[in-house]
Amino acid sequence: MSTPGHGFSITLDDILHQYGSSIAVDHVTLEIAAGELVSLLGPSGCGKTTLLRIIGGFIQQTSGRVIVGGRPIDDLPPNKRAVGIVFQNYALFPHMNVADNIAYGLAARGEDRASQKKRCGEMLELVQMAHLADRLPRALSGGQQQRVALARALAVEPRILLLDEPFAALDKSLRLDMQIEIKRIQRQSGTTCIMVTHDQEEALSMSDRVAVLNRGKLEQFSTPSEIYDRPQSLFVNQFVGSANQLHGTLTPLSATECEVLLANGQRLRCAAPREALSEGSAVIACVRPESLRLGIDDIDIGIAATVELGMPLGPTIVHEVVTDDGLRIKTSEPRLPGLEPRAPGTRISVSPLAATSIQVFSASA
Ligand code: ATP
Repeated sequence: MSTPGHGFSITLDDILHQYGSSIAVDHVTLEIAAGELVSLLGPSGCGKTTLLRIIGGFIQQTSGRVIVGGRPIDDLPPNKRAVGIVFQNYALFPHMNVADNIAYGLAARGEDRASQKKRCGEMLELVQMAHLADRLPRALSGGQQQRVALARALAVEPRILLLDEPFAALDKSLRLDMQIEIKRIQRQSGTTCIMVTHDQEEALSMSDRVAVLNRGKLEQFSTPSEIYDRPQSLFVNQFVGSANQLHGTLTPLSATECEVLLANGQRLRCAAPREALSEGSAVIACVRPESLRLGIDDIDIGIAATVELGMPLGPTIVHEVVTDDGLRIKTSEPRLPGLEPRAPGTRISVSPLAATSIQVFSASA
């Protein structure tokens, strides 16, 4: 059984990958600690899968180095990299039962039957599939197949586990169960894990740190809360969570705050921009729906607006409101008992909860 502390650290040192003349991975440098779960997050075509395959040794990068546990591994083939990989479609062997699928890698490296059986038993236990050891993959649900794929990858005690969109084929409730399960198994085994996903919620909820990629470039590599609360770029702000974007001009105030003058003459207190921007710069103030409070028009101080649409969305109530000068703004508030969506046409006022919850970026970036 793998033990905590088993995983290797991974350094991606200035990785560039070109397919012909087009750049898929653009000088990415990342330091991943041993035992960390890191997500590669970004829109379709941003280079996530290419980067994962470079780490696995299935693609040779154009330039740059992959260093695992302090040693460059660029000359090693995939089977010598101590890497386990779970593909999107699980790729189980259809004619082998669950136990044989899990034992495959152990048999391939010549382990005797007794140790194969022992390790396979441990893995079945870990993924809670012991009762289905004799089943063929076609007689398993998607989630069960995924657990077998995971057990097969973990059986050979990889120092690194690579997951390529591992939940893509699962429905929503099963996905949540499997996300929790993989996190548990990864913690328990201590394996360093890199997961490709385009689902920001998944990345934020599962990862120790998230690497956001855009057009092959690394935009930000931080903890989920830093990514969400302090995005470093307009791209990260837009891609992770939704944000209302309000155009205006900047007045710097202090090291931590600034003021943005909106087109309607309204002044908004915001967090100071990360980049040095001069007075009068055209900026975009980004405020997340849950950072806005809806008040009663004429009583609360805020931007006067009219409700266009209100609807319950899981544990929240979402409103789309239009300010008197035509700005469309989304708000989201906890669905407390007795709180119903406001009817279309209701006059309300909108105000931000805190200046620090509004991020400001240059409009010309
Ligand atoms: P997705 O979420 O859609 O899987 P991704 O972020 O994983 O996307 P990659 O598959 O790494 O992105 O692709 C990055 C870029 O490289 C894309 O523009 C893609 O079209 C291109 N690309 C990928 N594989 C090849 C290939 N074999 N030959 C040429 N171009 C490729």
